[in-house]
Amino acid sequence: MQQPVHEHDTLYLSAPVNALVEGIYRQNTTLGQLREHGDFGLGTFNDLDGELVLLGGSAYQVTGTGEVRRPADDVLTPFACVCFFRELTFEDVVSGFADMAALMSLLERSFPSPNMMYALRIDGDFEFVRTRSVPRQDYYRPLVEVTKDQPVFEMHSLSGTLAGFYTPRFMASMSVPGVHLHFISEDRAFGGHLLQCRAVRARIGIQILRSLRMDLPVTLDYMTADLQRDTEKDLEMAEKE
Ligand SMILES: [Zn+2]
Repeated sequence: MQQPVHEHDTLYLSAPVNALVEGIYRQNTTLGQLREHGDFGLGTFNDLDGELVLLGGSAYQVTGTGEVRRPADDVLTPFACVCFFRELTFEDVVSGFADMAALMSLLERSFPSPNMMYALRIDGDFEFVRTRSVPRQDYYRPLVEVTKDQPVFEMHSLSGTLAGFYTPRFMASMSVPGVHLHFISEDRAFGGHLLQCRAVRARIGIQILRSLRMDLPVTLDYMTADLQRDTEKDLEMAEKE
């Protein structure tokens, strides 16, 4: 007898984030395949062509110029994390939060344990949201190099949704450790990888993810890559600054 799979509380990773950090920006996972594993999440595109937001089953691509597109189902991703979002608890934060550090302390108070994974959906009105995206890469530059000259965007007085995950630090070779959020505005015209924001009002939905499924890419680049290096410092610089 097969054990039932807790599909609805499973984080799906299309590849380990390590490979992305080492500059392997091409895999064979389509957005269509990704959607079999979730209707909610984030990631990037082959050749690092922008930031992916998946919300309510709809995919958005925030390109290096800040433009938001609706990518087709056959578009490829080298790294994405998704789940079927099903909120377990929520918190209405009527006074909002001042910055990411304040959001982190709100989340830490809401999480039953720092050793679980969480899906986070934050709908809110924001005083400002600062995001970055990445321009399409022609060569396999290490992620930390690429993000040194990342385009940064800022928008004031807007509503929208932050979608993403909290992952424990001990999983840093597989997924971005800590809180990783991507933003999409309510009018779907602005978004990207969240760097900083201030919310005047927010509703934070939380799902506990108690299992993980990760696919390992069957591509020559991945299979012959040297992934022995500890990439956590690079990841910290690439994702948090
Ligand atoms: Zn990101």
